[in-house]
Amino acid sequence: MAATLKCPKCDSLETVKNGIIKNRQRFRCKKCDYNFTVDKLGKGISSYYVIKALQLYIEGVSFREIERLLGVSHVSVMNWVKKYQIKMPDRITHHATYKVMSHKELAEFYADRKNLEGTGMIVTELGDKFMMIKWERFKD
Ligand SMILES: [Zn+2]
Repeated sequence: MAATLKCPKCDSLETVKNGIIKNRQRFRCKKCDYNFTVDKLGKGISSYYVIKALQLYIEGVSFREIERLLGVSHVSVMNWVKKYQIKMPDRITHHATYKVMSHKELAEFYADRKNLEGTGMIVTELGDKFMMIKWERFKD
């Protein structure tokens, strides 16, 4: 899934990912050369980030941590939780841990079979890196 974000300056849709600055995905507009991060988009945040933020929320990741990971403000995340009426299930017996990795780090992680044990994991694209959410059971 690719993130297509509108340039906040000229409204062009021809934007490309341009690195991660202070944990925030940066984009560059091909038309006017303007650099911007997701925060600058305000209300126009792509559903790409909305879905990822809600995914993390439902896995028990705090609003502040979501802000740090995705570069969208925790206030936005709180508003989305309200807007989409997302409810966390009760009595969670496992918790999510997450890690942001480059493609090389991800390949190395998967090479070790021991890393794949547990209750499962998903990998989603995050800017030019990958985010892995892994579930671990609480120890009784
Ligand atoms: Zn532009």
